[in-house]
Amino acid sequence: MHQYECGNCGLRSESFVTRKGAEKYGKGHRHERHGGMAPISESILTYSGQMPQAGEWKVFLIVAVLIVAGLISKAL
Ligand SMILES: [Zn+2]
Repeated sequence: MHQYECGNCGLRSESFVTRKGAEKYGKGHRHERHGGMAPISESILTYSGQMPQAGEWKVFLIVAVLIVAGLISKAL
């Protein structure tokens, strides 16, 4: 999913399935609010609905390390 974010206005668009959709929204926003100029802090946010969040990855990593550590201690 993709979202257009304008840091100048502090807004974030709705989610778009395609990056193009978010870019198109950004174009419209630029035209409407910024007279066609590009705001400094605008960006396209990309994320996947299925991917774990960064925090979840950390937990996964800790669990994996513990399992490996357990296996190593058993093998020794
Ligand atoms: Zn803006």
